[in-house]
Amino acid sequence: MSIGIFSSLVTSGAGVPGVCSRHGEPAVLRKRVRFISKPPGWTYALLLCGALPFLIAVMVLRKEVKAEAWPFCAQCRQLHKQRTLIGWGLLLPLVLLIAITFAGVELGQTGLWLLLVAIVACAVGFGFLARGGYRLLPQGDVAQDGSAIGFKKAHPAFAAEAQAAYERAAQQHAAQQQTAWQANQQQAQAQQAALHAAYAPGTSQQPPQA
Ligand SMILES: [Zn+2]
Repeated sequence: MSIGIFSSLVTSGAGVPGVCSRHGEPAVLRKRVRFISKPPGWTYALLLCGALPFLIAVMVLRKEVKAEAWPFCAQCRQLHKQRTLIGWGLLLPLVLLIAITFAGVELGQTGLWLLLVAIVACAVGFGFLARGGYRLLPQGDVAQDGSAIGFKKAHPAFAAEAQAAYERAAQQHAAQQQTAWQANQQQAQAQQAALHAAYAPGTSQQPPQA
């Protein structure tokens, strides 16, 4: 299910659930995670002008939200290990091929095909490394305006905790506002009383002339 968490609540930690977003399981480790926004759709049109204008637009428009201690469950950790291992494994053919070439072994036409396969494996490997990284595992994207992080595939248990955390924070905020308002009222009343006492009838002081 889909849920959004206000960026301020992620940064402060007040809105961060105790379970992971993928599996809804209790956290066994917490990591610092930097969530980023996806580039707006129109920026892809810039690719017609080349990669550089696109990359500049993406960098300029990108919104970031840092979570100091994002929750990951045991399954998340397992997934991280698996994907990292597969990722590094897929980088190996290219490394081996380069090593063989440097060793002076002639591979001829076969070598070119092996190189092509190794390069494709390498690209897939980088994909595994990225998707197994703790930044992408939570599957959260910052909104274009940076106000919130959206989790489109959130586990219901995560969504429920996020909602509860939001309500707690909202109540706390309302209570703080109420306390501040009461303190202001009391201060105003005290000032009023002091003014009355100072200029009450029978005292020698007179109110200042306007
Ligand atoms: Zn998990």
